[in-house]
Amino acid sequence: MNKQSGVFPNNLFILKLVFRICPGRIAAEFLLKAIGYTAWVFYSIVLVKYVLHAIETGQSFGEIALFITGSALFFGTCNWFEQWVETSYKPKTDALLFEKLNGQLYDKAAQVELACYEDAEFYNRYTMAVKETETRASSVLETTADTVCAVIAGIGVMVNMYMIDHWVILFVLSPFVGKFLFGSMHNRLLYARDQESVSHRRKLDYVNRVVYLQDYAKEIRMSGIFRVLKKTYEEGYSGINTVVRRFAPRVAGVHFWQNIFTFLVIFQGVLLYSLYRTMVSRTLEVSEFAVLTSAMVSASWILIGLSESLIKVFQNSLYIENLRGFLSYEIKMKDNPEGPAPAKPVQSLELNRVSFTYPGASTPVLRDISIRIEGSEKIALVGHNGAGKTTLVKLLMRLYDPNHGQLLLNGRDIRDYRLGSYRALFGTAFQDFRIFAMTVAENVLMRQPVTAADYHCVRDALVKSGVYDKVASLPKGIDTVLTREFDEDGAVLSGGEYQKIAVARAFAKEFEIAVFDEPSSALDPVAEYGIYQSMLAACQGKPVFFISHRLSMATLADRIYMLENGTVIETGTHDQLMALNGKYADMFRKQAEKYAEEVGA
Ligand code: ADP
Repeated sequence: MNKQSGVFPNNLFILKLVFRICPGRIAAEFLLKAIGYTAWVFYSIVLVKYVLHAIETGQSFGEIALFITGSALFFGTCNWFEQWVETSYKPKTDALLFEKLNGQLYDKAAQVELACYEDAEFYNRYTMAVKETETRASSVLETTADTVCAVIAGIGVMVNMYMIDHWVILFVLSPFVGKFLFGSMHNRLLYARDQESVSHRRKLDYVNRVVYLQDYAKEIRMSGIFRVLKKTYEEGYSGINTVVRRFAPRVAGVHFWQNIFTFLVIFQGVLLYSLYRTMVSRTLEVSEFAVLTSAMVSASWILIGLSESLIKVFQNSLYIENLRGFLSYEIKMKDNPEGPAPAKPVQSLELNRVSFTYPGASTPVLRDISIRIEGSEKIALVGHNGAGKTTLVKLLMRLYDPNHGQLLLNGRDIRDYRLGSYRALFGTAFQDFRIFAMTVAENVLMRQPVTAADYHCVRDALVKSGVYDKVASLPKGIDTVLTREFDEDGAVLSGGEYQKIAVARAFAKEFEIAVFDEPSSALDPVAEYGIYQSMLAACQGKPVFFISHRLSMATLADRIYMLENGTVIETGTHDQLMALNGKYADMFRKQAEKYAEEVGA
């Protein structure tokens, strides 16, 4: 976590954000609080004093009644305004704040390097920031307005009390001590408890998500994994319980002292003290006693409110610290925003003695890899599972930076280019693609289609990936929503059809380098061969990297790199590697035999 920023700057940070999004909301919040405190001071002091003074000075009933009716009209109008703010204006602006603030969090989450998703601390900070944004922004507004107005109202009430009795002010400080001292201890304990629970809570969230998402529905029904998930859930649940139990005695003790100081000392103390002055020492008028006790109740509630607000100001600050920590997380994958965009078409792409270890891992996944691709060469990466093929293409796309060595595009280190324009060079299709609950056209374009040309592009891409006929047969064609999560008329397609839609993304994009990472794993061999031919045809004149577990596809490549344990062990054309009679040739023959068996069977 970054260095602590301080309570005031943290709260100011949120106020500035809110001011930029919706300044009217800040004004409304202050007005509400000002009305609330004015009413309080008016009814508990001004009105009591006025009525007692009016009776003493012999004002008529009519005059007093007029004053009371006038004040009732004023506060009635204020009440109407309060209702409007609470029921109409606040919910609307809350939704706006939530949308904009969460938008910032999502933007950040989309920018951070992939490695962050494997870092538990980052994940904790992110989930906590997202969980808190909805309530925290409005809480900061409310507490700031409350604090300012309570200070003003509190001073007003205390001046009135001081004018009657100097010493009574001492009693007034006790709710402050109770709420502020013990209350902030209480809240620090709750925060620490929340912090300790967050990793357990994430387990619960994970299980909730998995059980809810359609992606996992089949496996959950067809296997024993649900029991494992339940166990994870129970672990999370009992983890939270253990933390809560451990904190319980301290939380209860602090809460007890908080109540004693907040209520008992002031209520009973002031009452006894002013009764003594009225009845025993006879130094206080009955009317002064009435004003004092009424002001005492008012002062204590104002101070309780003030200390609660101050505690919340501190409490908010802790959460804002977390939010700021997340938003100001310095992305380790350095962009060079002033750098050039890569020249097109791509002349060469080279890995020069590249080694890579995943963050937190101890052994390298890639060791001393050197590969050079020129012009429109088609490169196949082959090898057993875990050899490092996917990691290599992740490095190519600059999703990770290597620990040693360099990647060069047109002879220049890829870190020199603007990250966005470098990544935009790639047209990609992956084995672990994701289909979004959006229309087919949006899933292919990965944005909203706007022009006729966009629709044409989607159709063309679907034809190339071999799924156009299926999509055209759906009731709304390419405007059909995929999955039924949000739309009852949504389409549910087969795994292979979804995969073809994911492949169409690459065809719909204007790319300079193609990367296909087993994009055909859900297809049968005939469809796979067809899609590879389409892919290679669509990539005419452009460099292509592809990974395929079926080596028959590798025969389509200009050059093959065989990887094992993160190093290149063989390289050459298919014919050269077969002639070499090494591991590639062995693997190819075994696959061919297996295929012949399957076809013969
Ligand atoms: P391939 O594509 O050849 O099957 P990968 O590149 O996916 O191989 O994986 C290579 C090795 O890197 C595997 O041992 C895998 O466990 C490890 N690995 C992959 N992704 C990660 C990750 N995000 N964090 C840590 N290790 C990983």
